[in-house]
Amino acid sequence: MNPIPEPSVVVMIGASGSGKSTLTRTWPADYRLELDSYRWAVSGDAGDQEATADAVALLDAVLQRRLARGLTCVVDATNTRFDVRKQLIEVAHTHQLPASAIVMTTTLEQCLARNARRPDNRRVPDAVVRHQFQQIAAARPGLRAEGFDHVVTDDQLMRLRPLLQRSVDRIHPDQQADGDHTEHARRILARRFFGEDLADAFHWTNLRPNHDPVGALAVGRDEITLVYRTSAPDPMDWGFEAQVPCLGGCAGPAWVPVRSPMDLLAVYDDDFPEDVVRCDRCITAGVAAREAV
Ligand SMILES: [Zn+2]
Repeated sequence: MNPIPEPSVVVMIGASGSGKSTLTRTWPADYRLELDSYRWAVSGDAGDQEATADAVALLDAVLQRRLARGLTCVVDATNTRFDVRKQLIEVAHTHQLPASAIVMTTTLEQCLARNARRPDNRRVPDAVVRHQFQQIAAARPGLRAEGFDHVVTDDQLMRLRPLLQRSVDRIHPDQQADGDHTEHARRILARRFFGEDLADAFHWTNLRPNHDPVGALAVGRDEITLVYRTSAPDPMDWGFEAQVPCLGGCAGPAWVPVRSPMDLLAVYDDDFPEDVVRCDRCITAGVAAREAV
């Protein structure tokens, strides 16, 4: 059961490190108004506190225009301040939509621990986290009186199913286009190793039965040929190799294992350790020569 009505204005309330963003991301991307994202949009740095005023202005502009269309907005910010919450409630009601508060129940210790694991620019001083936590604890009993139509805690929500459903919906069209599960699984493979952006630039070029599949990472006139090696006995050792010129000087292609975007960059820059390069032709020739003796 989902106690959050749609459309509505959903106001996340939680200290830094309380897991607001993880929960927010169970809603579709266009629903999510994340203050950090707008900080990033205006300044290039999601943790830039100096950019907060501009970020709030952007968030507010998007909020107004979505609500005018009757679309749900999930406002992902700490929302610890009474005046900030009051304004969000008023905007919702102006558009005849309910305002829902979702209060994070994460403990202070968990918030501090998660905050400590963040990159430098996203880490908030512990004292700030403590203060946010206290502000929210104090505000919690009065949220209904502030004007929220619904007040729920994160542990009352069942959000995994919509998240799973959306992932299924997103994958489905690909699967249709590719025609079979094998092709789809191979697409996922590139994404797993190299991430979403690079996977978009990747396509399979040569899929033959009983041969390792070959693909290319291609943008404009740049291209790196990749093969997915499945010959190792342990599937944990399977992985991509990138084609490079043979260091032994033969005309044949040589291969370098690539397990990450960093490895791909090294291949592009010609900056990989020589001892990882393996040439099929030279090895074959060497073995043949030894066997002939
Ligand atoms: Zn060679």
